[in-house]
Amino acid sequence: MSKTTDKVEEHSFQAEMEQLLHLIIHSLYTHKEIFLRELVSNASDALHKIRYLGLTDKGFLDESAELRIDITLDEEKKQVTIKDTGIGMTHDEIIANIGTIAKSGTMKFLKELSEKKDDKQKSDLIGQFGVGFYSVFMVAQEVTINTRSFAKDEKAWQWKSEGTGKFTLEEIEKADRGTEIIIQLKEGEDEFASADSLKNIINKYSNFVDFPINIGEEHANKSSALWRKQASQVKEEERTEFYKFISHDMEDQLGHVHLNAEAPIAYSALLFFPAKSNNDIFQKPEDFHVHLYVKKVFIQNDCKDLLPSYLRFMRGVVDSEDLDLNVSREVTQHSPLLAKIRKALTGRILKEIEKWAEKDAKKFETFYTQFGNVIKEGIEVDYENRDRLVDLLRFQSTKTKQGETVSLAQYLERMKADQKEIYYLSGRNLDVLKNSPNLEYFTEKDIEVLLLDHVIDDYLMPVIAKYKEKDITSIDKAEVDSGVKDKDELDPVIVTSFIGRMKAVIGDEIEDIKESKRLLKSPCSLVSSKEAMNQQMEMMMKAMNPDFAGAKRILEVNLQHSLMKKIAGLYQKSPDSPEFTTSVKALYDSAKLLDDRLEDPSVLVSRLYDYMDSALPEPDKTSAPKVAEKEAKPAEKTEPKAAKEAPKKDSKDDAGKNKKK
Ligand code: ADP
Ligand code: MG
Repeated sequence: MSKTTDKVEEHSFQAEMEQLLHLIIHSLYTHKEIFLRELVSNASDALHKIRYLGLTDKGFLDESAELRIDITLDEEKKQVTIKDTGIGMTHDEIIANIGTIAKSGTMKFLKELSEKKDDKQKSDLIGQFGVGFYSVFMVAQEVTINTRSFAKDEKAWQWKSEGTGKFTLEEIEKADRGTEIIIQLKEGEDEFASADSLKNIINKYSNFVDFPINIGEEHANKSSALWRKQASQVKEEERTEFYKFISHDMEDQLGHVHLNAEAPIAYSALLFFPAKSNNDIFQKPEDFHVHLYVKKVFIQNDCKDLLPSYLRFMRGVVDSEDLDLNVSREVTQHSPLLAKIRKALTGRILKEIEKWAEKDAKKFETFYTQFGNVIKEGIEVDYENRDRLVDLLRFQSTKTKQGETVSLAQYLERMKADQKEIYYLSGRNLDVLKNSPNLEYFTEKDIEVLLLDHVIDDYLMPVIAKYKEKDITSIDKAEVDSGVKDKDELDPVIVTSFIGRMKAVIGDEIEDIKESKRLLKSPCSLVSSKEAMNQQMEMMMKAMNPDFAGAKRILEVNLQHSLMKKIAGLYQKSPDSPEFTTSVKALYDSAKLLDDRLEDPSVLVSRLYDYMDSALPEPDKTSAPKVAEKEAKPAEKTEPKAAKEAPKKDSKDDAGKNKKK
């Protein structure tokens, strides 16, 4: 291999690239061996590409060369070389693929990498985000890439870098197609300069690569199409190993489905449920993880057409006997054959989840915690399987204990004979929900209410709308009547003017004030009007659009509550008195607080201080010694008390300030 010209091009890495390299070199210390997995996986990709090309194209370089990966070692020089007979790279491809952050995932990767504390998690990320090549700089002092493209009229090129700032590129002489990566190991990385340890790493991570990997003279990988075997013939360890190989997950899978179908369509599929989702609901729709093979030949990575999008978290392989080998992207997209496979796989995956729900509570719970959102997403889009998916939903409710959940079927089973609807209450925080005054009526009547605390839920329930003929209704909107009647009820005329005055005091932040028929213990509560958008939905809208004002709430007041009666008394005595207006405002702020909507609690708190201050007796200085005698530890106990009472003057001032606002 010699240089054809003296022309050495110097290039700088993109700023982000440099940042990435810096992080890799300076913050990753465990699992360094994954660099080999990444380079082998790139070699394998390059070989897949050339094999695929060979199906249609003719006349490229080294057409009949054996497709293989060779790893050689120079123990003296501490050099490892990984060579493949893959597709190779042209001058421009090197620049585009190595040294530039072209992929959208990379910035996300960088962000997550800098956020992750655990070193192992960091290494796991490398494989997942497709920035694999650069992991080589965990162990390399310098990396040299010699590569020649399959295209006959392209020249061969050498790329060199130490992983800091720059790389060089120059033309070289290289007769054969493919890529050769020479790693000059860093000092202290001698463990990778041994054939045995390289073999071990290949065994650990790269056993299922489709091409022979040779270390020296020895064939190091198994390369068998595991999915083609009968499920009963595959050992659990083999399956786990395969899962880790295709998913780059360091953890074992949660479960799998393995099918070998013959008629009407012949295909094999081995699909895995990961134990953890890295994905949130905002995951990009293009992130699929099932690869398509045709007659054991790899056709397409992350094929979108094998599963419905909500099942995109599944990992694995589908291998079809009936598709054409040179099937194109357009064909897979519209293929009725793939549509049939997709339908069968979906059914099979759901069946597996249903099996867990029925027989393996722990597994189901793990699945549900990680992928519950996926089920919810499915309900929205998969009309065919909606009923099955709805049956997989699990909820907290006013009757579930810590760690328990309830399904809609269970809810129906235990609900009262005369109950007409399924009730739910939704919000951001489960504890707040549990204490909502709006539950009082339902608690009193012993009616179970589902408590929904996830953003999607509020949007989802109206989509489901009914379960086995029963309407699913938010208690916010339920029309209920506790039937409790008070003997000394307020005169209806006074009620009307009292409510009108309260409304004037609170202003048009609320839609209306109504007399409540559901509150039993609380003086008041906020509810939404029948037509209003759900509260959670509103929050989602707000998150997307800060200017979104949202629907106004209705304040329900319990006129049988003694506090309301007292406020009504104040009103009757003097409707303009500060006592009256302050009480109404405090009442409203408290309702907002319970509704998880009070943005600034300081006004409410200073009012509370005022009330406490006026309600508590003046300190009796002469009695202080008595307390000291009685209390076991007078010093600790009385001092903090005194300290808390001391800023009384300040808090009054604060309250005064707030009142002025
Ligand atoms: P990914 O493999 O996810 O694309 P990498 O960082 O591992 O990301 O590789 C970047 C790119 O460099 C690859 O997509 C490929 O285009 C190119 N590349 C890397 N190694 C090889 C190789 N051995 N042969 C051909 N191209 C390669
Ligand atoms: Mg890669």
